[in-house]
Amino acid sequence: MSFSNLDLDPRIESLIYVNLELETPTPIQIRAIPRVIKGENIIGLAPTGSGKTFAYLFPIFNWALHAKIHHNDPSVLILVPTRELVKQLEDILSDTAKLIELYYVGIATGKNVNRMKRALKGMVDIVVATPGRLIVALEEGDINLDNISILVIDEIDRLLDMGFQGEIIQILEFLPNRNKYQTLMFGATLPRNVEQLAKTIQSDVKVVDVGRSVMPKGIFHEVYECDEGKKLNTLVKILKLPEIETVLIFTSSHNSARITSRNLESQGLELEEIHGGLTQRQRNIAIQNFKNGDVSVMVSTDLSSRGIDIDDISHIISFEVPREFDDYLHRAGRTARADKEGKSILLVAEKELNNLRGIEKRLGYTILRKQKFEPKAIKKPSKRYPKQTGKRTRSKRRTKERRR
Ligand code: ADP
Ligand code: MG
Repeated sequence: MSFSNLDLDPRIESLIYVNLELETPTPIQIRAIPRVIKGENIIGLAPTGSGKTFAYLFPIFNWALHAKIHHNDPSVLILVPTRELVKQLEDILSDTAKLIELYYVGIATGKNVNRMKRALKGMVDIVVATPGRLIVALEEGDINLDNISILVIDEIDRLLDMGFQGEIIQILEFLPNRNKYQTLMFGATLPRNVEQLAKTIQSDVKVVDVGRSVMPKGIFHEVYECDEGKKLNTLVKILKLPEIETVLIFTSSHNSARITSRNLESQGLELEEIHGGLTQRQRNIAIQNFKNGDVSVMVSTDLSSRGIDIDDISHIISFEVPREFDDYLHRAGRTARADKEGKSILLVAEKELNNLRGIEKRLGYTILRKQKFEPKAIKKPSKRYPKQTGKRTRSKRRTKERRR
């Protein structure tokens, strides 16, 4: 199968082969692109790192070449869960959209408001936005969605996880009648609430499923069992392994991301961090430095990393074990992108064994233990003190009652 079989305009093929230097389409691209070109409403399901972005961008570019676009108001709206994803799409569009003579604007918190307003007044075809900030722009009259022809909801499962259902429905109110636009939704999973919302948005939505929620084959998982207090030492030990090239370390809260970052720095390690406690500018710089390879270690929370595409990460380390399999999938999915290989390491304290079991159940096997819990010294019953009896407890309670 090649891109040439997908009914794309020769100008798009040239963009693919010459500018992006891609050779063959990924499974979701093969399945989704022809259906998007036909004008169908779809929900595309495929694992992380499987090329969903181009699965909608290429047919959108293709459409734009033939549509009569007047550039005054956006005709394509792309909703994504996080501002990092807005930035990532802007980066992709900055390499590609101008070749099709398309203009794009990113809308997210943390961006220069005046510049954003100015950009929206100028030529604009594609708007990439987080739902929350888009609603502000709509309420302030900065943007008009009357001419939208294609609506993309990327990472729709994550958007709903993050509680954006209300905002999405609110945004739909600003769009023309739903038979005026095509809807393309993408995700890695299809929980019931996503399916229901998809059907509310477009009743004739077709599911294009190329194996959702499946751990990419090229990822090798390892577990380091360690007491809570020894996690940092274990992490430092792992980071010193010769096999380590680039590492993304995940924590489950931004507090933990901060503390872990400071602790690692105090051990002399250079790193970047992205979490909710930083400004957007700080996060962008961090991602850029990590992407450029200036720094090879980055600490992140699940939210900050969602959907971010960073190539060639050799190792993912979960400093805490996520409760949900899908979160683990998204973490581990940062490595082994586009058919490469990678390793995902979990640091597991005793209280997290339950979460680990949940992950192993979904993987279908027990993950290799590279380090096991230190065997507990067996406590002998002490002979010096007599065993406590119920009598003592009772007398204690009596004393308390008397005091009242
Ligand atoms: P997803 O949204 O499914 O998580 P992305 O769209 O972010 O995945 O793509 C993951 C990576 O794969 C990106 O670096 C992208 O450039 C690359 N990629 C996309 N399509 C192809 C392809 N056909 N061949 C090779 N690499 C691709
Ligand atoms: Mg994506």
